[in-house]
Amino acid sequence: MAKLILIVLVTIALVLWFKHMARPRRHPGSRPEAEDMVRCRVCGVNLPRSEALLSQGRTYCCEEHRRRDLG
Ligand SMILES: [Zn+2]
Repeated sequence: MAKLILIVLVTIALVLWFKHMARPRRHPGSRPEAEDMVRCRVCGVNLPRSEALLSQGRTYCCEEHRRRDLG
């Protein structure tokens, strides 16, 4: 019986955690879709930070461009 209660508690904790993680982070005064834009060092394309590849403080649009720039 104690095992069942533990499973239920863990499930609730996981659901709450996922809800917390899924909550969109919004900066006050900015539109929700106005995400931080970064520029690819190789081709100069602008893309959202969440979609960019970050390497050594540099941003790239794809793995190929990251490799090309870093040699
Ligand atoms: Zn690129």
